[in-house]
Amino acid sequence: MSQPVDSAVSAVRTYIERHRAAFLDDLAEWLRIPSVSAQPDHATDVRRSADWLAAKLKETGFPTTEVWHTPGAPAVYAEWPSADPEAPTVLVYGHHDVQPAAREDGWDTDPFEPVVRGDRLYARGAADDKGQVFFHTLGVRAHLAATGRTTPAVHLKLLIEGEEESGSPHFRALVEQHADRLAADAVIVSDTGMWSEDTPTVCTGMRGLAECEIRLYGPDQDIHSGSFGGAVPNPATAAARLVAALHDEHERVAVPGFYDGVVDLTDRERELLAALPFDEARWLRTAKSHGTLGEAGYSTLERVWARPTAEVNGIGGGYQGPGSKTIVPSSATVKLSFRLVAGQDPEHVANAVRAWVPGQLPDGIRHETSFSPATRPCLTPLDHPALRSVVRAMGRAFGKPVLFTREGGSGPAADLQDVLGAPVLFLGISVPSDGWHAPNEKVELDLLLKGVETSAHLWGDLAEHWRHAP
Ligand SMILES: [Zn+2]
Repeated sequence: MSQPVDSAVSAVRTYIERHRAAFLDDLAEWLRIPSVSAQPDHATDVRRSADWLAAKLKETGFPTTEVWHTPGAPAVYAEWPSADPEAPTVLVYGHHDVQPAAREDGWDTDPFEPVVRGDRLYARGAADDKGQVFFHTLGVRAHLAATGRTTPAVHLKLLIEGEEESGSPHFRALVEQHADRLAADAVIVSDTGMWSEDTPTVCTGMRGLAECEIRLYGPDQDIHSGSFGGAVPNPATAAARLVAALHDEHERVAVPGFYDGVVDLTDRERELLAALPFDEARWLRTAKSHGTLGEAGYSTLERVWARPTAEVNGIGGGYQGPGSKTIVPSSATVKLSFRLVAGQDPEHVANAVRAWVPGQLPDGIRHETSFSPATRPCLTPLDHPALRSVVRAMGRAFGKPVLFTREGGSGPAADLQDVLGAPVLFLGISVPSDGWHAPNEKVELDLLLKGVETSAHLWGDLAEHWRHAP
């Protein structure tokens, strides 16, 4: 059911319609810069992309625009304070670097020569993430024009990093270094998508990630299985037993303490997730899997979005060449990753795993368990005022009800939540068919402009409904 179009909505639409062509020309200019952070020979392009964006944000009206250098690729910071001192402060996060792309990967046209075919704009970065960063520029202009303001209704900050596609190696340090300037009441991440063209959604959280490697050692070298086998512990057998013990018969993680603190789904959240038009058979085809399996009592979407998991990413040890080699191997390795949800502390999980491992091993098997730096989970409750504003703004732009999703993966947004102590909200208009990281990446023009519209409605809504406590 579509809502009646109010005057603010039509004022925003009129402004966007008038500036749409120039907006798309500008975006195309940016997309022509091959800001591939993973490839050293594009380092100057990544810098050029940062400079280009900083200049464009200045032209948009941001009084402060800066390029922040890191030991790797630079980020862009911009700030536009509201004339209203009591307005909330919002930080928009995105990235200006892109994944590698070459015509021979299967692109129909040059990935760095944007083309419009039908209602779609094709180029590397069209959806991930330049298009979704850029919709905020026209969005804030439309917000000002439609409301007659000269400054945004909120204190608006932007942080657009240049290393996201390379794993954001310097991002946390950058945020820590500039924590005072980046201070915000809420973070809006525009580097995600929505459910589908017909179903606008807001993502409310992202899982965290803890990864570990467990090395098991038996005899000091590979030894003869006839002379010694059956009388000494085998590290490959120990690895298999360890992996087998990781889940119980309900597919729950069997490490004591693993679920400590987990924030359960509320009934309302479960109801709303169930309202998504989810086609499990289609999902399975995308997964290229031949069956579903997971924690008892939860749906597939709940399992991948809202429940913590343990996954065996690799297991190895002993002889794996052609023919046979009759040995008791000297070592075996297990690689595990844990997806974490709100309430779980990665350090606590790591300690729980470290404490659990020795109890699974026979005498004579030594072990080393090492964890790499973890990513924390983030989650914004459905009744958070900033989330409600995002939902209302998106609802006005799309003219239909907005549902909720979560993200099963993990990302640098969690660093913003951690360091700034602000809730993270995800506002994205990309759809699964946009082909992130793939050949022929595109953005739907219609949705891109809905992104502009959402951004245009958001700042006023936030300021109106979320006053700062004096
Ligand atoms: Zn991205």
